[in-house]
Amino acid sequence: MSDLNTQAVERYRNNFLKEVEENVEEGHWVKMCMQCGVCSGSCPFGPHWEHPPQEIFMMIRAGKRDEVLASDSMWMCTSCYNCIVRCPRKLPITHIMHGLANYAHRLGIAPKGQPTREFAKLFWDNMMKKGRVNEMKLTIGHYFRNGIGAGIKEAMAMKDVGLGMLKAKRLNPMELAGGHGLKDLKGFHAMVAKAKEIEDRKKGFVK
Ligand code: SF4
Ligand code: SF4
Repeated sequence: MSDLNTQAVERYRNNFLKEVEENVEEGHWVKMCMQCGVCSGSCPFGPHWEHPPQEIFMMIRAGKRDEVLASDSMWMCTSCYNCIVRCPRKLPITHIMHGLANYAHRLGIAPKGQPTREFAKLFWDNMMKKGRVNEMKLTIGHYFRNGIGAGIKEAMAMKDVGLGMLKAKRLNPMELAGGHGLKDLKGFHAMVAKAKEIEDRKKGFVK
């Protein structure tokens, strides 16, 4: 790239774009977006989000740091990959969306009470306890996250699904007594801690 081109690109990259490039998974791709809107049009949920992917990328390039990191749109990405297979510039959109959500979470500025985020936290804590997910406890924890009254209401609304899962042995009430766990839980925790350390170092959270 000529000096003139390099200078032009540097002028175009605002501070937030640079921050995203340095800290967000696959964030260096954002500058390649040509704003065609194909991703937003392909996203099955895009029309229901405040900021579909193309808009998120436009906002990053416009330096709208607070709006992007506080948005709950990234948290609703279901990783269906519709956007990725259609993007003419081959941007890894799904990874960027999850990367932005993860970055906002690590900074402590992700939207509070966002249901997907709450569920992810519940899932992670459940899984870390024994190295395996206890589905009974996860389901109950999820339904009753907002108190007993709301839990009963939600459980009643989902009773047919729950009964179907019990019938198909996808839920086991015996798990409430404790459930299975990994034999080497200590080793599992050490492995997760190491993976986190490597990720943190890569993203510059630990020097
Ligand atoms: S489809 Fe690709 S190039 Fe088009 S707006 Fe989405 S990310 Fe940008
Ligand atoms: S992967 Fe996420 S952003 Fe892409 S189309 Fe699917 S839900 Fe939308």
